[in-house]
Amino acid sequence: MQTVTTPGLDAIAAKVRAGDRLSFDDGVALFRHPDVVAVGQLANEVRERLHGDRTYFNRNMRIEVTNVCVASCLFCSFAKLEEGAPGAHTMEHEEAWGELRTRMGDPPSEIHIVNGLHPGLPFSYYEELLAGFKRIKPDVHMKCFTAVEIHFFARHYGMTYAQVLERLRRAGLDSLPGGGAEIFHPEVRTRISHDKATADEYIEVHRVAHAMGMRTNCTMLYGHIETFEHRVDHLLRLRALQDESAKGGCGFQSFIPLAFHPDGNGMRNMPAPTAMDALRTVAVSRLLLDNVPHIKAYWVSMTPEVAQIALRFGASDVDGTIIHETIYRAAGSRSPSGLTVEGLVRLIQEAGRVPVERDTLYNVVREYPRASLPESALKVRDRNAKKHLEVVS
Ligand code: SF4
Repeated sequence: MQTVTTPGLDAIAAKVRAGDRLSFDDGVALFRHPDVVAVGQLANEVRERLHGDRTYFNRNMRIEVTNVCVASCLFCSFAKLEEGAPGAHTMEHEEAWGELRTRMGDPPSEIHIVNGLHPGLPFSYYEELLAGFKRIKPDVHMKCFTAVEIHFFARHYGMTYAQVLERLRRAGLDSLPGGGAEIFHPEVRTRISHDKATADEYIEVHRVAHAMGMRTNCTMLYGHIETFEHRVDHLLRLRALQDESAKGGCGFQSFIPLAFHPDGNGMRNMPAPTAMDALRTVAVSRLLLDNVPHIKAYWVSMTPEVAQIALRFGASDVDGTIIHETIYRAAGSRSPSGLTVEGLVRLIQEAGRVPVERDTLYNVVREYPRASLPESALKVRDRNAKKHLEVVS
């Protein structure tokens, strides 16, 4: 394996190779280091130590059942303040369940649901929603409701976090997604997300879920008004909770860096983060979060092309087929709204990695062969070119 010798990185690289934990200052130095490729190579060493070439994906389906939301996050292009506002929608149960029914020919193993914070729905709406999906496909994994939503449910319906999670779990909830973390530090959070769960409340929801034996995921929305120090602070808070939860045998499965997208929201004058920033953030996350199994290159957020490169910068998962993503598309994402299994396998193989289809809890469904490069790419191109010639001739 190639080693990193770039000046300034050697002390950090020595710590990484010795298995020593990196500090706050190390994290900031990695974000500031001029050679992003060298930082990526170091993260790649860790990724290969943990997972070799294996790179995970799943067959999942995204649904947002309501975009009505009482909060007013500055970066959000998805939410509508009230029912009846232009573009506001709340699905009837049958409409939501119909999304799964239409896909039962090639069913997803996971349904991923995130929503706005709707003030007018009864709690039973969410319980029945989950129960209905399980009636259609009892073994589907329900990864639903961010910590921000769980906090809202607790406040709005007068329950503790544990009571909310227990009732949802009885209805079919299996794990929590990681959304809603944004940037924890109050200097940023009070400016971009002042009226939803605080950092401590987000962390507490995950702490309670972990104590109940529920797996969760975590995120960070980067590339807007935050500094590198804010990012490192955020990552270290997640690392601290993971240390705590690991003692009980549970915790975060993956960390997903989410790139800010500016279209149609209160920060539309800011540029989106660049590909290099996306790659650096994946790499530094891999190096700082030494206790989180996977760093995800979420292709919706960073585009499939950059996600593919991120597989050489520390990422070991690309999320899934998704099928129907709307939150990032509302914010101007140019990524497609879904990818096929074949497309994901090709993306991973041509990064020189081994595609592994997983379920939500990282049980292996199928391992694909490694592709030899650049042969596989050429074969696909030949095949496509041949098809094209057949069409035009
Ligand atoms: S990010 Fe979530 S909580 Fe914030 S306004 Fe949008 S939907 Fe509501």
